[in-house]
Amino acid sequence: MNLEKSKKAFIEANQYIPGGVNSPVRAFKSVTINPPFIKEGKGSKIYDIDGNEYVDYVGSWGPLILGHCHPKVVEALKNAAEKGTSFGAPTEIETEMAKLICDAVPSVEMVRMVNSGTEATMSALRLARAYTNKEIIVKFIGNYHGHSDSLLVKAGSGALTHGVPDSPGVPVDIVKNTISAKYNDIEDLKNIFDTCGNNIAAVIIEPVAGNMGVVPSTKEFMTALRDITYKHGSLLIMDEVMTGFRLSYHGAQSLYSVSPDITCFAKIIGGGLPVGAYGGKKEIMEMISPLGPVYQAGTLSGNPLAMAAGVTTLKRLKENPEIYKNIEEKAKRLEEGFKANASSLGIETTINRVGSMLCLYFTKHKVTDFDSAVTSDIGKFAKYFEEMLKEGIYLSPSQFESLFISYTHTDEDIEKTIKANYYAMKKLI
Ligand code: PMP
Repeated sequence: MNLEKSKKAFIEANQYIPGGVNSPVRAFKSVTINPPFIKEGKGSKIYDIDGNEYVDYVGSWGPLILGHCHPKVVEALKNAAEKGTSFGAPTEIETEMAKLICDAVPSVEMVRMVNSGTEATMSALRLARAYTNKEIIVKFIGNYHGHSDSLLVKAGSGALTHGVPDSPGVPVDIVKNTISAKYNDIEDLKNIFDTCGNNIAAVIIEPVAGNMGVVPSTKEFMTALRDITYKHGSLLIMDEVMTGFRLSYHGAQSLYSVSPDITCFAKIIGGGLPVGAYGGKKEIMEMISPLGPVYQAGTLSGNPLAMAAGVTTLKRLKENPEIYKNIEEKAKRLEEGFKANASSLGIETTINRVGSMLCLYFTKHKVTDFDSAVTSDIGKFAKYFEEMLKEGIYLSPSQFESLFISYTHTDEDIEKTIKANYYAMKKLI
């Protein structure tokens, strides 16, 4: 596989951009191959500057449920661009977007647009703290909510130990109000609430965690979480940045029949452009400036190009509910194919799949939380990843991420991927 041009481009990028990338995982640090530099994408495929073609299962880390360059999205973007790229003034399409989100997700009565998932969760925390007049935030080990200071807390902290910063530069004083709890562990949650439940502003959770592979919370856990937060007057924040409009048009929350107080979105609602949003009950959202005292703003928030791509994507999903069945069916075929390969080759793997999100771990253990996720053999994963890339299959270079199946993945793509999986796993023996 020739990656010469990409190699040169990476060397040059490294001179001007820290690590040559604008987001760390793109640097392929955990594998020995250089990152291909991407030139273009179409449907389920991406093409690098060396001319290699890949079946793409990263999909820009989740947003591209309709694939690359969906004709309707591109058309909407062109039309929007011709009318002006940014005004910093109200536009009708912002209301259209807000209505689409509120109609789709019943727990969201009002919504504020921001520019990324990080901004959405960060703003949701501020709002929750202001609304409850409490300070502590509980998050779960192995859940990722972006890189704002109070959420960058070391995964692995003991349940009742106050957080320590996960990155230099995050003041200890800020994260002392963040508690890390064990995912899917009701006892741990109860202990935390027993100890400091009267000062917990909110619990934030990925309903299906997509940042330690793919790990769904159990129904019992989610129900217990809703009950305990309700009982203590703490808010429940669902981080649906990844799962929103992916696992269902109505969010992962509809699969659990649990109604959070605040929901965070990003990725799919931007159709591939930089977007985030947070929304919830009117009474809570009305605390945001200019209606209320909680300040939060953004020069490019509700940007017309981002709204055009997002609204077009959401409308396609709304008008074509069969998309969800279709992508789940394809993901299921991948799951079954991978399982059959692993068993015929005698390789111990665990596959977690929820809808069109899927992760293959190199472990014999069931993966239900952070501790079980990290039993995966990441050396094996790195080798597997490289072999898959050589076979023309573009996966995330990290074990602890999901594959994302889009509506544009074809039957041939799925067959090719299952075959590639066989060859790649065979190299591990
Ligand atoms: N929450 C979740 C669940 C995420 O998966 C991510 C990003 N992968 C974020 C928040 C942060 O979003 P962004 O990268 O847009 O800031």
